[in-house]
Amino acid sequence: MDLIFLGPPGAGKGTQAKWIIEEFATPQISTGDIIRAAIRGGTELGKEFKSYTDAGKLVPDELVNRMVKDRLAQDDVKGGFLLDGFPRTVPQADALDGMQTEAGRRLNHVLLLEVADSVLLERITGRRSDPETGRVYHIKFDPPPADVADRVIQRSDDTEEVLGQRLEEYHAKTAPLIPYYEEKGLLRRIAGEGSPEEIRDLLFAAIRG
Ligand code: AMP
Repeated sequence: MDLIFLGPPGAGKGTQAKWIIEEFATPQISTGDIIRAAIRGGTELGKEFKSYTDAGKLVPDELVNRMVKDRLAQDDVKGGFLLDGFPRTVPQADALDGMQTEAGRRLNHVLLLEVADSVLLERITGRRSDPETGRVYHIKFDPPPADVADRVIQRSDDTEEVLGQRLEEYHAKTAPLIPYYEEKGLLRRIAGEGSPEEIRDLLFAAIRG
């Protein structure tokens, strides 16, 4: 199954993706994770990426499209994938469409997690992750256990200041994908403000159609 996860920063895509990939045995492709790995690697490209992510700006389409094209050429995605954080612009969606046509495959569902901006702020600024396991916590809703609490870190773009810019980018450049996929009959809207388990069940039902 070829799936896309759409939604603003902090909508819960990463959390839900873990459950979806387990349930549907589909690899997750998170462009944010690939970009952060390149930044940690300290390469020239990584440094360029960091200048965008730290400012809450989207990385230019050509760079992200090439990254996704390489990733989709790998063997493990032959049976399907869950794209998390891509496409984020109409040109990216057009590029993906070209890749899919070339590979003779088509999208099954575009899952849109709908969450109000006011809810996103609290979710994002409380987000912390364990650098040893990659597990993501929230200081209020899902606090890390005592033996982990001392080592959790905050993403440099998870501050209130950068979130404002990320939301602007989302509304200006990513939200146009909602009518784009609606017209293609692929959009599945999911209310993203319940408990993680409630949202998971709605997502599973949407994927099963
Ligand atoms: P995320 O982890 O999905 O929130 O992505 C973190 C940051 O990586 C974003 O704020 C962008 O700077 C960059 N990024 C991730 N995916 C994309 C994409 N598809 N297009 C452009 N920039 C991206």
